[in-house]
Amino acid sequence: MDYVDDICDLIGDTPLVRIGDLAAGLEPLVLAKVEYLNPGGSSKDRIAQSMIDAAEKSGQLRPGGTIVEPTSGNTGVGLALVARRRGYRCVSVCPDKVSESKRDTLKAYGAEVVVCPTSVPPDHPDSYYSVSDRLARDIPGAWKPDQYSNPENPASHYRTTGPEIWQQTRERVTHFVAGIGTGGTISGVGRYLKEVSGGRVRIVGADPEGSVYSGGTGRPYLVEGVGEDMWPQTFDKDVCDEVVRVTDAESFAVTRRLAREEGLLVGGSCGLAVAAALKVARGCGPDDVIVVLLPDGGRGYLAKIFNDTWMAAHGFLPPGGEMTGVGDLL
Ligand code: PMP
Repeated sequence: MDYVDDICDLIGDTPLVRIGDLAAGLEPLVLAKVEYLNPGGSSKDRIAQSMIDAAEKSGQLRPGGTIVEPTSGNTGVGLALVARRRGYRCVSVCPDKVSESKRDTLKAYGAEVVVCPTSVPPDHPDSYYSVSDRLARDIPGAWKPDQYSNPENPASHYRTTGPEIWQQTRERVTHFVAGIGTGGTISGVGRYLKEVSGGRVRIVGADPEGSVYSGGTGRPYLVEGVGEDMWPQTFDKDVCDEVVRVTDAESFAVTRRLAREEGLLVGGSCGLAVAAALKVARGCGPDDVIVVLLPDGGRGYLAKIFNDTWMAAHGFLPPGGEMTGVGDLL
């Protein structure tokens, strides 16, 4: 019989899907690496598994231990999934701006959710940073993975995502495009593809307009999971040949088209990455193979990007109107 023992055995080995209509008229092959097909629904399952493996090996995490991380998003889900399967307690500390449905998802996976006020500075004792530090210190056997400094974050992509792309494209990938949050994905995949291709593969970061990675100051943008107001340790900026800036309007327009036209119901950072990949594709030829990584699915964004009222309220939809075609935006 054909089965796995543990849902976590299905982390990784995600497929590549050709982007069709959205890339019409462009010469290169554009392939999407569909990470929402991981069991927890995002690329963060990979780093959760690797960070936990390494902590078990080093003795930082022992049987009966507790994982404490200040995260509400995909990393929280990945950590809860792997932690609970291995019998650890998992505590997600998040600011109160995090939606009810995200908190409920974490609880559904068996995590405990601690909610902190958003309106206090990071060094305030009630901030979610301070609270997670305190819990990690005070709970016996607690361990904090810290995805922004944990070397297993980029290392997991170096060991898995990078080799998958190289093999799936039969060593023909010429460009890799990914959004940058912690920088773990682009640094790990980028380093692997550079090494294995002798520097031939071009590594392109996609960044929301306003983020520091493309020269901004960290000014707020609405796309989630990407962009920063500081430079994390997990981002190796030397691996990036180029960073392409993408506006929220472009990201969300492409996200909507991916669902409607390609059948890929994915998150806003996927639209951002594909918008950047299409910009790159415009300058490429028929022999080029562009792989763009889509970190998560779109179900978590139904009340925002896929909701006309929310989109109109933020100026992304003309009143009563339809989305502008991506051709007009790029
Ligand atoms: N998109 C989403 C939705 C994410 O949650 C993340 C992770 N923060 C990223 C993109 C960026 O990935 P990385 O942290 O590896 O740079």
